[in-house]
Amino acid sequence: MKLSEKNLKISPSVTLTIDARSKQMRAEGIDVISFGVGEPDFQTPDNIKRAAIEVIEKGPTGYTAASGLPELKKAICEKLQKDNGLSYHPENIIVSNGGKHALYNIFQAICNPGDEVIIPTPYWVTYPESVKMADATPVYIECTEENEFRLQKSDLLAAITPRTKAIVLNSPSNPTGSVYTKEELEEIAEIVVKHNILVVSDEIYEKLVYDGEKHISIASLNEEIKERTIVLNGMSKAYAMTGWRIGYTASNLEIAKIMGNIQSHATSNPNTIAQYASIEALRGEQTTIEEMTKAFDERRKYMIHRINEIKDLSCITPKGAFYVMMNISKWIGKEIKGYKVNNSIDFAEILLENTKVAIVPGIAFGADNFMRLSYATSLENIQEGLNRIDDFLNK
Ligand code: PMP
Repeated sequence: MKLSEKNLKISPSVTLTIDARSKQMRAEGIDVISFGVGEPDFQTPDNIKRAAIEVIEKGPTGYTAASGLPELKKAICEKLQKDNGLSYHPENIIVSNGGKHALYNIFQAICNPGDEVIIPTPYWVTYPESVKMADATPVYIECTEENEFRLQKSDLLAAITPRTKAIVLNSPSNPTGSVYTKEELEEIAEIVVKHNILVVSDEIYEKLVYDGEKHISIASLNEEIKERTIVLNGMSKAYAMTGWRIGYTASNLEIAKIMGNIQSHATSNPNTIAQYASIEALRGEQTTIEEMTKAFDERRKYMIHRINEIKDLSCITPKGAFYVMMNISKWIGKEIKGYKVNNSIDFAEILLENTKVAIVPGIAFGADNFMRLSYATSLENIQEGLNRIDDFLNK
C-alpha cells in the first residue's frame, strides 16, 4: 500500500528520542546523566496547580471555544502588552496544545506547495519538519559560532527568492542560547518588510535570559513588521508547564482565522483545565520565574567554564534559554580509545556507551560540529557528567 509520501519523509524528533533512551536506561538501573532534556527540572508553581485543582473540583471542565478560552486570550493580550509592548485583541490569539502544535498550525496556515521557509542553522529540530508537513521547503542559512550563531543580514538577503514565504526567528534560541539585539532585529525587519515575507517569531524562551540581556519581540519594532509577524509563545518553559500543553500565537486576523479553523477540526480546544491554569500562570505571582532563572544562570556559568577547561572541547557563552552548543570539531575525524568519530552522532554514541552521559548530537540541529547540552538538570549532575566526559576523553 502506498502511504503518504510527504509524511514518510518526516523524521522523528532526535531530542525526544535521546530523552526516551536515557529514561529507558535509567529504568533499567543504569546510572545515566542526561544533558538531553528540553524542559525545566522544576515543579509547576503551586498557584498554577491550585488553579487547576479548583477547576477540576468546581468546573467548568467542558469544551471551550476551539481557538481558546476568551479569558485566557485576554490574559495573553495583557501579557503581550506588558512584557513585549505588543497590542493585540483576543481575536488575534490562537491557544494551542503547546508551542509545537502552534508551529504546525502556522505553517499549515501560511504555506503553499513550493513555498520556501528560511531557517537559520543551528535550528530547533521541529522547524524543518513542520515546514515539510505543510508541503513547503526549508531553506537553511548557516550561522557561525564566530557570529554567536546569529543570522547575518547579507546571508539573509542572499537566501531570499521569489518563493520565500517566511523566515523563522528563535530568540532566545534553542539550541544556541543566542539572543538577538534590537539593532539586528531592525535590520531583519527592514528586509522582511521590503520583500513582503512573514516572520515566525518563536519567543518561548523569552523569560530565560542572563547577563542583563533583554528579550525583544521583532513584532514590537513597528506596525509594518507586526502585521507580518506571527509571535509564538507558550507556558512550557517560563512556568515549568511542559506537560500541560499550552502554547499560543499572536498574528494578524487573517492568519489567526485560518489557524483557528484548522484547529477546530484537528484538535478542538486545548485542554480546558490547563487553559484555566494558564490564566493563573500569566496573571498570578511571577517570582518563581526569577528563582528558576537564577538557578539556570548558576548552572550555565559552571557548564561554560567546565567545558572550556576540557581539552579540545569549547563553547561560547549563551545568553538565554538553557542550552550550550559544545564545539567538538577538534574530535571529528579522530579516534577516541579505538572508536572513530566521523560525526556528532558517533560522538554522542561513544559518550553514551562509555560514560553513560546522554547528549544530543548537533546534526539534529543542522550543526554536525557541535553537541547540545541542556543545563536543565542539577548542578551535581552537570559536575558529574562533565567530569565523566573529561575523564573518558583525556585520561
Ligand atoms: N520552540 C522551541 C524553540 C522549543 O524548544 C520548544 C520546546 N522544546 C517549543 C517551541 C515548544 O514547546 P511546547 O510545545 O512544549 O510549548
